Amino acid sequence: MTMQHCVLVKLGEAFLKGENRALFTRALRRNIIAALPAESGSVAIQPRGGMFVLFPSDHSAQLAQRMTEVPGINVVDPAKCTQKAPEAFLDAALDQLRERFGDELQQRPRAFAVIAQRRDKRFEHTSADLNRYLGAEIQRATGWPVNLSHPEVTIRVDVNFGDAFVSVQRLRGVGGLPVGSSGRAMVLLSGGFDSPVAAMRMMKRGLACDFVHFSGAPYTDPSSIYKAYALVRQLSRYQPRSRLWVAQLGSAQRTLASSSAPGLRTVAQRRLMLRIAEELAGRQKADALVTGDSLGQVASQTISNLHTVDDAVTRPVLRPLIGWDKEEIIAEARRIGTAEISMLPDQDCCTMLAPPRPATYSDAATLQTVETRAGIEELVTGTVSNLQEYSFTAGDGAQLSPQGAAALSSQRQSSQRCEGTASPQAG
Ligand code: ATP
Ligand code: MG
Repeated sequence: MTMQHCVLVKLGEAFLKGENRALFTRALRRNIIAALPAESGSVAIQPRGGMFVLFPSDHSAQLAQRMTEVPGINVVDPAKCTQKAPEAFLDAALDQLRERFGDELQQRPRAFAVIAQRRDKRFEHTSADLNRYLGAEIQRATGWPVNLSHPEVTIRVDVNFGDAFVSVQRLRGVGGLPVGSSGRAMVLLSGGFDSPVAAMRMMKRGLACDFVHFSGAPYTDPSSIYKAYALVRQLSRYQPRSRLWVAQLGSAQRTLASSSAPGLRTVAQRRLMLRIAEELAGRQKADALVTGDSLGQVASQTISNLHTVDDAVTRPVLRPLIGWDKEEIIAEARRIGTAEISMLPDQDCCTMLAPPRPATYSDAATLQTVETRAGIEELVTGTVSNLQEYSFTAGDGAQLSPQGAAALSSQRQSSQRCEGTASPQAG
């Protein structure tokens, strides 16, 4: 009897998209291909009403695990594809229970339930018949008790038209929409907790994200760049391709700071960051900007200041965390694997020239005057003409472009020089 390992990948909202379903499933298929782990060998991908079935040439647990990180996928069932016969379903279920629980299968009983489903209604056994037959046989083979209301293990049988699928495990995917199905955005990525989480929220709504990080160089060490790099590398698990630009903002910040009242410096800096991000967004054909702002978190994030900041650009500034508490943001950062990186110490460009008491109220006209005095156009073009670019793919080991690798290693050397002449704050 032939039985084949496969992975059932069930679509989330993409499946509900009516007319546009083809667009969403195409994007998802592309992203699935980009995320395939090398361990699976070559993988055949078959669409079947509301799901994709993945048949790898080499079986490994990595494939299912990896699919849980692809936005647009709600549910992932590692499964076996079998012939359409009750005995084949039983063999497939027992095989997988042995694979999953090994010696524990007999030692520790687990309450279980069988859920059979017939897509092919002409199949001669009803779902209820299958549930009864499989329930009794699995109980006999394992000694496990049946519990339909609170099973610890659920065994699913999906009787399709050509063949059937049997699974004993279900993994939760990140859900949402396939990356790329909503367009492209430029994320302002600091080294903190907020912006990586904001990026993930927008990727899950279908935006392909590029990233820009501002370092305070030449007045800060490169620690914030390492963090931004590590953060994008982690986030690149969730989309096929990610790019990070690093801008050195230190000199422009100084010029801007000397042209503005101390209280307005932070807002002036944010406007400068957004202008540069928008310039990059134009080059990348990105239609939106994304920040990790959360209302009232710091002085620069009052409604008045957010309004003033938005005035600097024409593209929409998306702030998915605007109504989130810090605690909620950190919990989400833990789930998506960015918290441990965000937690590391760094020299942040924003704290470099931060005034003791930033204004909580500002208006666009005043900031425009400050910017004219500082020569904002030159500050933007000067910064944009000197960017470093790094490129990452969704594969397990993110790839560094040769140009990026050279730049990062030269920054490492200059950071060692920095340590040699440690300033009092450098720690
Ligand atoms: P935290 O997570 O500690 O709040 P943060 O970087 O979010 O750190 P904020 O001062 O709250 O700090 O910044 C608000 C938003 O502005 C950030 O979420 C980010 O989108 C953007 N931002 C701030 N600093 C930078 C930076 N150095 N490079 C790129 N974007 C930045
Ligand atoms: Mg913040």
